[in-house]
Amino acid sequence: MSLREYQKKRRFDVTPEPAPSRRRPPRRSRALRFVVQKHRASHLHYDFRLEWDGVLLSWAVPKGPSLKPADKRLAMAVEDHPLEYADFEGIIPAGEYGGGTVMGWDRGTYVPKTADVGTARRDGRIEVTLRGKKLRGAWILVRTRGRDSRTWLLIKRSDEMAAAGDVVTEQPRSVKSKRLMAEIAFDEGGDVERAAGADPSDAIRALLRDPRTRKRVPRAKPAVWHSA
Ligand code: MN
Repeated sequence: MSLREYQKKRRFDVTPEPAPSRRRPPRRSRALRFVVQKHRASHLHYDFRLEWDGVLLSWAVPKGPSLKPADKRLAMAVEDHPLEYADFEGIIPAGEYGGGTVMGWDRGTYVPKTADVGTARRDGRIEVTLRGKKLRGAWILVRTRGRDSRTWLLIKRSDEMAAAGDVVTEQPRSVKSKRLMAEIAFDEGGDVERAAGADPSDAIRALLRDPRTRKRVPRAKPAVWHSA
């Protein structure tokens, strides 16, 4: 698993995203992690990441995960990310790769069905049990078409953790900080209006009615945003 593509796409003196560390963090003694990051870049998507072999295997899911087994969510395979990326929440500056607001939407541990997730990825079929705050139970990632295809589907398998409703609108807040996208953008100097467009409108209305919102002070200086 190589982080070369991840490294090539980013300028670590500009973006607050983590640079890959030189040595791989030791593991095996603890459970495998998974994370889902809500990312308002040029388009809104949810980055679904599974820890394996010292990196995060990654897919971009435009509609986000669904708890309904009938929903097959498009998941585009993207470059492996460093393990440290699982903790990232904040603003990628405008003009940089993936520029926009990133939220830690869900996180936890997972158990793969087969011993070697690397082989399962090459074979185009990864079955896991997720133990997150929002996503739990059995899930499958399946590659469509040929071996070189980047197109996968993320599907909830039928079990007692399957559910109706829309988990991405019903549970829009960060599991890391409890913030909405708009609040992350405001606090960290991002594009608030653009980020707010990725939050459910009723959550934004409640935020605007909350008297504490008026007293809120940004933590970071605003990044320079180009009107595009
Ligand atoms: Mn992304």
